[in-house]
Amino acid sequence: MVPTPQYAGERVVVMGLGKSGLSAAASLRAGGARVEVWDDKAASLSDATSKGFAAFDGTSMNLKDVRAIIWSPGIPHGYPKAHALSVKARTEHISLICDVDLLLQAQPDATVVAITGTNGKSTTTALTAHLFQHAGRKVAVGGNLGIPALDLEPLGRGGTYVLELSSYQLELVPHLACETAVLLNITPDHLDRHGGMDGYIAAKRRIFANQRPPRTAIIGIDDEPSAILYEALRGDGLHRVVPISVKRAVAGGVYVIDGVLVDATGDKPTPILDLRILARLPGAHNWQNVAAATAAALSQGIPTNVIVSGLKTFPGLKHRQELVTVLKNVSFINDSKATNADATEKALLCYQNIYWIAGGQAKEGGIAPLASLFPRIRHAFLIGEAAKEFAGTLEGKVPFVLHNDMQSAIKQAGELALAEALPDATVLLSPACASFDMFKNFEERGDIFRATVLELWPRP
Ligand code: ADP
Repeated sequence: MVPTPQYAGERVVVMGLGKSGLSAAASLRAGGARVEVWDDKAASLSDATSKGFAAFDGTSMNLKDVRAIIWSPGIPHGYPKAHALSVKARTEHISLICDVDLLLQAQPDATVVAITGTNGKSTTTALTAHLFQHAGRKVAVGGNLGIPALDLEPLGRGGTYVLELSSYQLELVPHLACETAVLLNITPDHLDRHGGMDGYIAAKRRIFANQRPPRTAIIGIDDEPSAILYEALRGDGLHRVVPISVKRAVAGGVYVIDGVLVDATGDKPTPILDLRILARLPGAHNWQNVAAATAAALSQGIPTNVIVSGLKTFPGLKHRQELVTVLKNVSFINDSKATNADATEKALLCYQNIYWIAGGQAKEGGIAPLASLFPRIRHAFLIGEAAKEFAGTLEGKVPFVLHNDMQSAIKQAGELALAEALPDATVLLSPACASFDMFKNFEERGDIFRATVLELWPRP
């Protein structure tokens, strides 16, 4: 745990008592602050007070002498509706910060590599951290991914925090000053929380605020909002801007052409590695992640040969096109993280002869946007609330069957794939749906997929 001494003796309020809130409260207490905690949910509040934290009075909202409010990024404060406590804090000029900001204040001497984007944050963050570890650097990885920021190790000078930052967190980190900052891509998402697209882009842009030398700003330029931002950063003279593309060669950048990763940050463009050999990072979307992680490693002086061997040894992340097992001609892939059609599209693009397990709680638009990829699907196995709707979309185009539970869908999909014995067949869980109708979260859904597959078809 990283203690936060910056508020020793001062009154601070921790708002929102999930994992990161509790971790912030513990860190502040260890640093000597007078901590009060609050959560709009009574059960969360009583859980925290049972751990010995004083309760803030969220009804009277007396903020006298409060130095800061540690705001849980998951709780809306401005949009779609202003939260009464955030309004009061703003009128009294009390800053709203999140746990990541406390880490940055407590560890000013460590290097910070931060990563944001609409998609690919976790993969790029894990991969970047892996490259740093592989290079023998002292590194800790967390933020929006996995471990809450303040539960990481104190690293001090010479250490590097590789942090995944969501747009919500980026609104709450006034002390952010990255040595290397990465923006992968921007597509419309969470617009209700940012008051529209401009607010969302503004939040993402904050990753480049107050950068410290070498002030490297790495930015994917394959979508329009990011390309515009790239031009603006290039023109401001404050950053060393490194463009990323998987569509074209870009001067001074890191890009992928025909599957080959090229480093053009030096004197002349140098091919580094054919990414088609990386089974743990399939598809052009992952190539964007690889190019960004490579640029981040290069910006911190990691040599190309170390990056190449690091890319080859990356174990991959769970639930994101995770290869569970291969049996004869059939690969079993867990892509439980694909909770919308956009994410599922990325997986469908990677395989042929797909035995597709999909369904759950449908998102708006369902799977209609995936129609051009239906010819890749041999058979669909539909589960959850969305099963009937998806069946309607597939009718006449893809054979399908409805299942009451995921286990029976897996069994039938695997048996059919093995029986049909087509080359390079894939049993793919990529639900294009949220999981909450049948599971606690997408992690539980993916864990059950993996366990069921391995129970039915144990690894040799
Ligand atoms: P995030 O942390 O931003 O949600 P993840 O790395 O967890 O991103 O990937 C989630 C899903 O997003 C993946 O399963 C994949 O379908 C899709 N994805 C990953 N990287 C990219 C990318 N660079 N561009 C577009 N989609 C991506």
